[in-house]
Amino acid sequence: MHPMVKPALRRGWRDLNTVQFGMTPAHAMTVGPMDTASGSFLDLLNGTRGLPLLREEGRRMDLSDGQVDALVAGLAGAGLLDDARGGGPAADALRERADVLERLRPDLASLSLTTSGPGDALALLAARGALRVQVRGAGRVGAVLASVLAGAGVGEVDVRDVGRVEPWDVAPGGLSADALRERRETAARAAVRRAAPGRPRRTTVAVRHAAREESHALVIVAPRDDVAVHAPDPVTAEPLMASGTPHLYAGVVEGTGVVGPLVVPGATACARCLHHGRADRDPVWPRLVAQWRGGRARRVGACDLALATAVAGLAAAHALAFLDGGAPSVANARWEASLPGLGWRSRPVRPHPECGCGAVERVTAEHSSAEGEARATMAVRRPSAEHGTETVPTRPNGTWRAHV
Ligand SMILES: [Zn+2]
Repeated sequence: MHPMVKPALRRGWRDLNTVQFGMTPAHAMTVGPMDTASGSFLDLLNGTRGLPLLREEGRRMDLSDGQVDALVAGLAGAGLLDDARGGGPAADALRERADVLERLRPDLASLSLTTSGPGDALALLAARGALRVQVRGAGRVGAVLASVLAGAGVGEVDVRDVGRVEPWDVAPGGLSADALRERRETAARAAVRRAAPGRPRRTTVAVRHAAREESHALVIVAPRDDVAVHAPDPVTAEPLMASGTPHLYAGVVEGTGVVGPLVVPGATACARCLHHGRADRDPVWPRLVAQWRGGRARRVGACDLALATAVAGLAAAHALAFLDGGAPSVANARWEASLPGLGWRSRPVRPHPECGCGAVERVTAEHSSAEGEARATMAVRRPSAEHGTETVPTRPNGTWRAHV
């Protein structure tokens, strides 16, 4: 191990012997008491030295081997240390691709904040490279979202859509003006390739994998059609439900941006749960949906470019949080923001007893067990759980969360 104090956290001394790592309440931590020698020693924990060399340097600073080991173990236990050489074989392979790693350095630093074990962040980043995600819809939201996922290191992003690129599909980061009248799908895949750090996968591989629905770690449904955004069609989602494929909805309808729900089939509320819940609250909901779906498609619907970009970014962030093994707040919920106020609010989407997806049984079972401490959101499957990010480290004495 080559210990490195996580560079993503800014360091500051709260007093002579208490050091605070990080600035924001979400991830800041204070450690103390720490003597002056140990404080100076922190500067040596930059990933360039292994433990034997660190002990040697420690002795020169009047720190015993035991003190050095205890300091390193304490910081590691508090989730403050990374390992410049850790993360396993996939991480090692990524380290050798220096150009790719340089592009992803801020993402790696960010992952170091949400993982605790030394080397976990790079392991997760490397794991992204092996993931396959499909984005359905290559409009202002879908094409940008797909590019963001590719740019963040997701190895294979397959975009599906029909038709040709129209002038109003063009968006910064998405379909380019050079692609006018090209097939949307082709143009979106080109945008994904441009965004991806490193060499893109061969198309033949992408196509072969895309043919197998169940092989996607996540499918993102980002329709260009506003009715499909507002009222996701349960019938369209049936193959995804049958294959157990997690999927996330995102889009813009009129002046409202929507992200969610994230559906983990059988565990969290699905499009049919959403439909039934709305019909409960408004008996004429099915009648309205039928009219909207049957209506003539408008040539160009409302879609504010900035709102679409925000939706693409937020949806991509939720998608990455899920793919990295987290439980984002978009399960059993839809995040919505409307122009011009743009305050994001979360609307719950509850598993419905009349839906056959099984989420309601899951939630009921979880509520009746474990004294009700398990919540539906915790049922989210963690595709990257093997990386050990769930291991909560034992905090050494004198370490606690900062109240900042
Ligand atoms: Zn359902």
